[in-house]
Parts: sequence; C-alpha cells; structure tokens
Amino acid sequence: MATSLTNSAPTESQKFLSTRGGDYGLSFETVVLKGLAADGGLFLPHEVPIPNDWASWKDLSYPDLAFQVMRLYISSSEIPDNDLKSIIDRSYSTFRAEDVTPLVKLQDNVHLLELFHGPSYSFKDCALQFLGNLFEYLLTRKNQGKEGRDRHHLTVVGATSGDTGSAAIYGLRGKKDVSVVILHPKGRVSPIQEAQMTTCTDRNVHNLALDGTFDDCQDIVKALFSDADTNETLQLGAVNSINFSRILAQIVFYFYSYFALARKSSSFNVGDKVRFVTPTGNFGNILAGYFATRMGLPVEKLVVATNENDILHRFWETGRYEKEPVQHGGKAEACKETYSPAMDILVSSNFERVMWFLANDSALSAGADEKASKAQAAKDVLGWYQSLKSTGGFGPVPKDIMENGRRTFESDRVSDSETLETIKTLYQQSKYILDPHTAVGIAATQRSMARAPRTQHISLSTAHPAKFSEVVTLALKDEAGFDFENQVLPQELKDLSEKEARVTEVTNSWKEVREIVKRLAEEDLKAEASN
Ligand SMILES: *Cc1c(COP(=O)(O)O)cnc(C)c1O
Repeated sequence: MATSLTNSAPTESQKFLSTRGGDYGLSFETVVLKGLAADGGLFLPHEVPIPNDWASWKDLSYPDLAFQVMRLYISSSEIPDNDLKSIIDRSYSTFRAEDVTPLVKLQDNVHLLELFHGPSYSFKDCALQFLGNLFEYLLTRKNQGKEGRDRHHLTVVGATSGDTGSAAIYGLRGKKDVSVVILHPKGRVSPIQEAQMTTCTDRNVHNLALDGTFDDCQDIVKALFSDADTNETLQLGAVNSINFSRILAQIVFYFYSYFALARKSSSFNVGDKVRFVTPTGNFGNILAGYFATRMGLPVEKLVVATNENDILHRFWETGRYEKEPVQHGGKAEACKETYSPAMDILVSSNFERVMWFLANDSALSAGADEKASKAQAAKDVLGWYQSLKSTGGFGPVPKDIMENGRRTFESDRVSDSETLETIKTLYQQSKYILDPHTAVGIAATQRSMARAPRTQHISLSTAHPAKFSEVVTLALKDEAGFDFENQVLPQELKDLSEKEARVTEVTNSWKEVREIVKRLAEEDLKAEASN
C-alpha cells in the first residue's frame, strides 16, 4: 500500500474534509453533528495518523485502547483527555462482556470476534453507544447557559430494517436535547427487533411503523433531510453509518482483536499479519478495518463478505461499480431480500471513502503534492459519483487504483443456501450458533483459509443469533435436540414480549411524517424546558 501520509500523529489539530472537495478544515464537532457534507460527499480526516507506538497498546483494556485510537482523530483542543475518557468509559460500560468484544477460537487459525454484547445485540452498539454519549456531550457544551428555545435541540431521524434502529434507540434513549425518531416498515422487521425498539418508552424515543417497505422509509428520511421547511424548524441529525464517529469507534475493535490474538496464541506475535473477514453492507465496518490498516496494523488482507447483493464483490472482480451487472441503466434496479437483511443494499454508502483514498494515492504516486492530490481525488470521486447517479454505475477505474486496492482487499459473495449450510455445519462441528450475517463471514473465511491456510483469520460476528430466529431455526430445525428458546434466546430478549410497547402507525407519506416529526420534537423541547 502506498503510505502517502505523514508519519506523525496529529493529536493537536486533526481536521476534516469532504470527499467531493467542498469542505476543508472542519472540526470533529461539525463532522459529527452534520453527518453528511453539504456537497453530498463524506467526511474524512485530513490525515490518517500513523502512530509509531501502536505495539505498546497490546495489553490495554478496551476503553483504554479506544482512548488511544480516538485521541489521534479528535483534537484535544476540541475534547480534552478527561472528557474523552469519560465518554468512552460510559459507552463501553453498558456491554455484557467484561472485555467488550471477546475473541473466540473456532478452529486452528480461525477466530470469531463477537461484537454483539452491547444493549441491542448487534455490532452497531460498538459505535452507537459512543455516538449517543458524544452527541450528549457536544450538545450540553453548546447549550451551556442557554434556556428553552435558545437551546440547540437535535432531532435524529433514521430508517431501519432492524439493527440500526434498535442500536440508535439504545444509544440515544434519555439523552438531553435529543429527540430520536425511527421509521421501520410495519410488519417487516423481525418480532424481536420490533420489540427492542417499541418497548423503549423513554420520552425522547419515538417509533413510527410505516405502511410500506424499508426503501419507502429511507426515501422519507431522505425527503426530510432535503426539505427546506423541515430544515427551518428542526436541526436534523443523522446516525447512519456514514457518520465518521461511527467509523472511528469501529477502528478500535480491529486493534483490540489483533492484540487479543497475540495474547492468546503463543505462535502469533505482535507484528505478524492477519486476515480480517467482515460481512458487509454499507461498507462501514470494513472501512474501519481499512483505517486500521492505514494506521499500520499488520493486515495481510481485508476480506469483504457480501450476500447476493454483491455490488462490492463485483467491483473487486471487475473494477466496475454498478447497481446492475454488465451494463448501466438497463433493467429496473432491485435489492434482493436475503437471509442477511442488514446487508441488503444496492449501493454501499461508505465505499466512496475508499475510492477517495485510492484516488489520492494514485495522484501522489504520479507526483502530485498533498494539496494537488487531494484536489485530484475529490475530482475523481465527484466524477464517479455523478456517473453512478446518472447511469447507475462507474468504471472500470484505472488499473493502478485497482492494483492498489487489491493489495488490501479481497472479496467473496455468499448465497442464501450457503448461509444456511454454514450455520448448520458449524453447529454440527462445535455447537456454536451463528447469526446469518456472521455466517456469510464464516463462509467467506473458509474460502480465504483455502487461499491462505497458514494465516490467522479474525472473522467478525456482527449480531447475536437470537435477533434472526427465523433463519437460525430454518438452518437448525432438523438437528436433534435443537431448541431456539432455550439454546439461543437470552432471558432479556424473552422478557421484551411482556413489556409495554409504544409505536405510532403512519401512512407512506413524507408530508404526514414531517408533521409528526415536527410535533414530536416540539413536545420534547417543551417537556425539557419545563424540567
Ligand atoms: C449493519 C450490519 C451489517 C453491515 O454493516 P456495514 O457497516 O453496513 O457493512 C452486518 N451485519 C449486521 C448484523 C448488521 O447489523
């Protein structure tokens, strides 16, 4: 990989830019509260820090390691050490596992990184617990000495097919100066996921069950974000995976699991290379692995594991990024419904960030200085994404860019039947029960093992199997003695069915949703003012 970026850790003055060139020199606070750049691009730090002393982090606890990593991206002039430590400590104290993200050995050279021990049982808690506390911290600071209407009140609006909604709700419940409104497609999220969301009855949490599909929910959220009326009355916040603070939080567990492996395994030392396998949808989680790699973590490959919605796998095969394979703009585009619904996407939002890095590397290798290379990268990204919008695809991208990318990335596509088979086989071998997303990763891990049998693999487990009862039951129903209720479902999730639920049903009309969101935010603001 081209190491283009300076070899020091900029802790004092880390700033952020937009991948499309419209923003430069932004603060971390702006980046977190805005989410998306005004030019439609995504935020990136000016520089990826390359810490010389990363190996000395080996024995740190999860929160202490998180502090070391995050400190490199957030200027201490923006958030002082003690405040950052306290935000981090509070965020990871809610996890059920002592070491936050335990590493479990499945077979020789294959380890599973369990990321589902947070409040909502998916890996999204690793980022959204942090984001919730970060929002609260930034807003409290903005609002010091302000009363009532002068206070900055953030209204977070999001669409979910399940995991994002529950993780966002658990991250933001009870937070001051924040309202959270989550739209889910009525009757189309799993019963457990629905209960996780709707039984959260904190005053600032609002669930809307939409008469429509997940795509309808997303369209409504997009309409609200681009609506002048909404933006006049509300300060909207986004918590989807393009928020840079979510990527930042996820870098931590790549380092943490690497060190856990070194502590556990006598044949693996700090400095040796690993392969990470990450089940991917919006490319958020694996992008964090790319940051870790650029920071100097010894990574042989990052394996992108997709389900049948395989735009990313096709890109690494062909160099073309297209909604529909073969030619642009042809048939109607459709996202397939698979057994791993949290990865059912047509295009991966965060992929733009990798393309920016690759374009920047390419310009630097061609002799551009740092300023010119950044301008070139923004120009390339803008061109690609205009083409994606107008023709449904871009590429093939230049050969040097593909070669650079393939030095780090490999990819694999896993079908629904392979997903079921993987859940079943692992259960038969070891009684370990995978959720379907993790199973996509494990299937890709087995293929990667065939290519690199001597390399240690860390495969990321992104959800607890209890969240996907239908698929897990389908895979294991013929196994003697298998009992979902007793073997898989934690008591805490069983108890949800007894709890009071609160949800508002809405029709598929963005204007109706807008009026409801405005009213809810207004009520929250009033309630807080009278406290
Ligand atoms: C969100 C999610 C993913 C996909 O993560 P990305 O960051 O979008 O790649 C994978 N598995 C589960 C269980 C998820 O909830």
